[in-house]
Amino acid sequence: MDKPELSSPVSVIHGIGPAAEDRLAKLDICTVYDLISYLPRRYDDWSNLKSFSDAAEGEEISFRANVLTVPSVNVRSRARPVSFYIGNGMGRIKVTFFNSPYIAKKFNPGDECFVHGKVTVFGTQYQMVNPYMEDAGRIGTDTLVKPVYHLTAGITSLQLARWIKTALDLCADQLLNVIPSDIVKSEGFTAPAECYRTVHFPPTVQKAEQSRRQIAYEELILLGIGMKLMNRGNSVNEMAKRVIPDSAEGLDDKVRVAWSHVLDNLGFSLTKDQVMAVRDIQKDLMRSKPMNRLVQGDVGSGKTVVAILAMAMTALMGKQSVLLAPTSVLARQHYNTAVSLLSGCGINVVLLLGKTKASVKKEIKDQLKDGEASVIIGTHALLSDDIEFDDLALVIADEQHRFGVKQREKLLIRQDGSGVNSVHNLVMTATPIPRTLAMVLYGDMSTSIIRQKPAGRQAITTYFIPSKTSTDITEVLKAKLAEGEQAYIVCSKIDENEEETQDDNYLAADDAGDVSATSVFDMKDELERNGLSALYKTGILYGSMNENEKLEVMEKFVSGEIKILISTTVIEVGVDNPNANVMVIMDADRFGLSTLHQLRGRIGRGNSKSFCLLVSESRSELALQRMKMMCESSDGFELAQKDLELRGPGDFFGTRQHGIPTLRAANLYTDMQIASLACDAVNRLFESKSPEAEEIYSAITRMFDLRFGRKMGVL
Ligand code: ADP
Ligand code: MG
Repeated sequence: MDKPELSSPVSVIHGIGPAAEDRLAKLDICTVYDLISYLPRRYDDWSNLKSFSDAAEGEEISFRANVLTVPSVNVRSRARPVSFYIGNGMGRIKVTFFNSPYIAKKFNPGDECFVHGKVTVFGTQYQMVNPYMEDAGRIGTDTLVKPVYHLTAGITSLQLARWIKTALDLCADQLLNVIPSDIVKSEGFTAPAECYRTVHFPPTVQKAEQSRRQIAYEELILLGIGMKLMNRGNSVNEMAKRVIPDSAEGLDDKVRVAWSHVLDNLGFSLTKDQVMAVRDIQKDLMRSKPMNRLVQGDVGSGKTVVAILAMAMTALMGKQSVLLAPTSVLARQHYNTAVSLLSGCGINVVLLLGKTKASVKKEIKDQLKDGEASVIIGTHALLSDDIEFDDLALVIADEQHRFGVKQREKLLIRQDGSGVNSVHNLVMTATPIPRTLAMVLYGDMSTSIIRQKPAGRQAITTYFIPSKTSTDITEVLKAKLAEGEQAYIVCSKIDENEEETQDDNYLAADDAGDVSATSVFDMKDELERNGLSALYKTGILYGSMNENEKLEVMEKFVSGEIKILISTTVIEVGVDNPNANVMVIMDADRFGLSTLHQLRGRIGRGNSKSFCLLVSESRSELALQRMKMMCESSDGFELAQKDLELRGPGDFFGTRQHGIPTLRAANLYTDMQIASLACDAVNRLFESKSPEAEEIYSAITRMFDLRFGRKMGVL
């Protein structure tokens, strides 16, 4: 048999059969490399003789001890627990095992064992229930620091450790170093083979931490530089030719014409930041290298117009562009905006949704293929394999965190089948991303920031309402509705039976307490009870609703027929109705800060005063803090910053939001320093064109594929 490679499937490892292979896949471990780079969650440290009597009640500790008494089964209890005493120089402790009758035969007085578990104190007696306990003979006393991994059913840490050891023995020599030598020297790093051996089988916890740090460097270099290399591949001139306008000269004039057309249709003038963003894009479109740009602007800052202007320019160059929206509701809305802004420009705008009728879909597909449609708006349906374009030049993703990098990439690279991006790429996001983070996430993406809000915007006043039965809720609703305005009521779930649909960012389950959430249908009943829905037509909206019904409700809400819209977070992204200026968010504690901010961004779009009521009966510290922050600030950038200070990354800055795979050693926020240090060093090295530069370059390309390739659809 050939020598296994890092990219070989795990089944080449002795002892991994089809069943284990499936289980490992659940942990996202598919290749030998995945196995080697699967880092321990923590270490049990048995290298020091620690006393369990120092442990606080409930603390988890590791220690070595000897079995003191013969394990005995309590036959009177149905669970047949096995208990006995173990101890060391520091005292003794009673261990009890439920549902583990084999334990009685496994341990005998005098055996030395390694124990890890939670200490409880019962009177003066220390106890442990179902601890991890292993015979010292089996573990081997040369490894006193034992790695503990995140596991899935049917796999033990010991098994995993054994497989990793085999994998390292077979392939560790193929691990390539990606860290420049000056950093390796100054940080005292080791060769990758040794580093990975240490992180899995460390002599001390300190050594393990040092190796983890080295792997964090490695990971951030792979992500930061690897992404960039991917993008550099994109700029190969050959590939870019197709996106260059046939004659860039006429473009300026054409753009001016389109611009004034759009502006006429717009009915307002663009803010300074919008103009700058459009200018940036225009410059990019005229260069020979595909654009890779991020437009960052808080909710309501007016990103849609910018996107549509970019599409108009592309259409005027005779090319096609696609705007990907995360929901059909939003896609429909963008479509309406595009049609109204571009009417009279001779630009053909089409909408394609998953649920579009087959016959209509076929017609649209034909128009995409023969180039008749130039501005194309839609959802994931546009990513389907059977869709062909005549001359696609620009892909815009709105609220990009809803699309995985992989999905977006699919559109960008498929055009010529070369696996190389050759299409202009524009991403619109309301999530503020620190510069260094953006660099790591998107490689060398340029950024345009829209900070300024359109003129005449009223501030949104946010109140925290601590009780669901508070009359303030109906009072505010009544007052605004009486003025002819409309209202949103947002709930965290749809009906009784459904599992609660919480925000991805929702953190601690304990937060919500046990107060059950108000559903969309609960709310509907409530409005019938209190008479509001008799006075004001009420509609409901949630994600799993029939597509046509959804559109109908949305249209009726935007046209003003429906006055009160009760919905889930489907309205979070992008829905735009300037006449709706009050929003009630029920069980607001169930949503993360970034979602709350997004939701609230639906109001405050018109000229009248807006109110957001955050209703929550939770008294958890975290929930209250979030409500307070929401009441004090309506600036997304500021909120994100505060959130970061309070709780670290995760909500505004979670990797999931950006569609990139979870990192194993590095933390995207706390390790940002490392990221810029490391990436700078690599860039400097590349500029030097030394032999080392070449070596590192090819190592990064190779290791990036192994580490991220599959997940980002590059392989
Ligand atoms: P977002 O950045 O959240 O996607 P939108 O593009 O949906 O924001 O814009 C929010 C609202 O602001 C829309 O109703 C849009 O028509 C309006 N708008 C956008 N730009 C301006 C502007 N320069 N002046 C006034 N209103 C604007
Ligand atoms: Mg938007």
